[in-house]
Amino acid sequence: MTPERLAGSAGPHVFVESLDDMVVADEDLSHLTKSLRMRVGNPLTASDGNGSWRRAALAESGTLEPVGDVVFVDPRERPVSVAFSLVKGQKPELAIQKLTELGVDRIVVLSAERSVVKWDDAKVRSAKDRWRRIVREASMQSHRAYLPELDALTPAVEWISRSDVAIAQFGGRHLGARDTSIAVGPEGGWSASELAAASQAVSLGDTVLRAETAAIAAGTLLTAVGTGRRSDVR
Ligand code: SAH
Repeated sequence: MTPERLAGSAGPHVFVESLDDMVVADEDLSHLTKSLRMRVGNPLTASDGNGSWRRAALAESGTLEPVGDVVFVDPRERPVSVAFSLVKGQKPELAIQKLTELGVDRIVVLSAERSVVKWDDAKVRSAKDRWRRIVREASMQSHRAYLPELDALTPAVEWISRSDVAIAQFGGRHLGARDTSIAVGPEGGWSASELAAASQAVSLGDTVLRAETAAIAAGTLLTAVGTGRRSDVR
């Protein structure tokens, strides 16, 4: 029997608290009924964001009727992460959305020395709320079984000191099958102390990429060629 696959299943995809008693959150319901014109009885898939999902049909008042059994998708053997540096005036939203679509397990927003962004707590909180919404919407759109983790704002030196993290740096070594975690610098490049803190540097190609392009390239390479490839992706 062909295993059930979430990506490519009929209808849109939503996240619910419980797959036994499926209730769609108000904002998701209005997206389903208004933007996607879903009607009672139409097919969709629902996930708990933690690896489990099932087929369902839209029922009355935002509830879902189960159609199939709950299916569990094994987590990636070696989860992949992409970190990128927040830069003033630049929008991190695009990178967060695309990294989520690509299936990256952990997205880390860094404050690097050359980030020159000084946000107070309130600004960080409202950015995090906005980013979490983007992660959720992009996870629905890309039919993910797992919601990615989002860490913000992490000091760059702290993150890139980890032995499993490679910084992206023009002229670095080629990516290998064991690489699972890449950190992209700000538009102004890494500072001397950040370069000193990093234990390894990888190349993303022979052209100098903008920071958001570098982040998306890192996510593409890690999810497509790494050993972290999920068993259900064929
Ligand atoms: N002027 C900067 C370029 C910054 S580009 C400099 O000289 O470093 C922003 C970030 O994207 C870089 O810090 C790096 O992490 C990443 N990047 C861009 N192009 C890259 C490439 N070809 N290989 C690896 N990383 C790259």
